[in-house]
Amino acid sequence: MRVSLPLTLLLSWSFAGMANADESKNTSKRTSEVAPVFLVADGLNADGSLIENYQRGLRYAIDYFENYGPYYIYLLGPDSKASVRAIYRKRAMSRVNPSATASAEQQIEAFLKRPNVLAEMKAVLSGKAQGGLTWTQDPPVLYEDVTTNAKEREKNPIENTWGALHEYHHVFQMAHCDTKQKRTSDKHINSWMAEGMATYSSAKFMENLGLIDFKRYMLELRRSGGNIGRPSINDFLAKTKKWQLHNESYWDKGGSAQVYYMLGAWATAYLIHVQGVDEVIVLKDWYYDIPRIGKSAAFKKHMGLSTADFYVKFDAFIRKSDDEVMRIFQQRTRDE
Ligand SMILES: [Zn+2]
Repeated sequence: MRVSLPLTLLLSWSFAGMANADESKNTSKRTSEVAPVFLVADGLNADGSLIENYQRGLRYAIDYFENYGPYYIYLLGPDSKASVRAIYRKRAMSRVNPSATASAEQQIEAFLKRPNVLAEMKAVLSGKAQGGLTWTQDPPVLYEDVTTNAKEREKNPIENTWGALHEYHHVFQMAHCDTKQKRTSDKHINSWMAEGMATYSSAKFMENLGLIDFKRYMLELRRSGGNIGRPSINDFLAKTKKWQLHNESYWDKGGSAQVYYMLGAWATAYLIHVQGVDEVIVLKDWYYDIPRIGKSAAFKKHMGLSTADFYVKFDAFIRKSDDEVMRIFQQRTRDE
């Protein structure tokens, strides 16, 4: 469980392959008036704690990033097939495009027959972890956080809150990207930005909520890999002399996707604590400029250096000892 939550965006790309193309054309305000909607399968949330612990993270994230949506949160489990089927029908209804040539009922039936949807329902009923954050490419634009094994989530209030924080940062990010483009495109963000910044922000917000020790967590990413995976940063760097934060091919190579989570989290820490950029600019504000001027120009404008210069500086930084890198959290400095 500790490993699976932050990896959900990775899963969602292969699972759904969706993107919010239309929204990217809309450069006006992208926030939503619609409150997040929870759909919880029978057999879960008997004492209300499953939703409450998720909401603890979601409320914090929406307060920080503002409300984007519609956002549907699916908390599913294997106890009632009828309940799961009813929820998937509702999900299909939420995706109906009234302007499409197919009727609403045809669209609902088509969605429910999709191989990936059938596979996901099967995963739910067998208690397997699958799914993650998805978003639609065509109207109606919406975001979904699907947890197929919410029973695990129910047992772990800390990870439940943590996951809610992590996924909502992705909602905010994807609302400012043209996700039809490649991650190397100037209109979309690199994986280290998506996962690294969400890993950093969710851990920082967890500390702000009084639930974890942020600095200890950042050190864990170096020493053990924390709740992200193995190898740790230190183990990875010891056997990988040449690597690139912006090399998107690591997704496909087993065991290396954690580069984007752990090294990305430390890259985010570098921007805030070494480069001296305000946390709110790094985690939020610079994204607003991506649709307008592109990622490279937005990064340079807000972070104060080009991505190319940043990669060189960060590579030297992250190879320092634990003691040295941990010192950046003692005081914020602009003169390194
Ligand atoms: Zn993620």
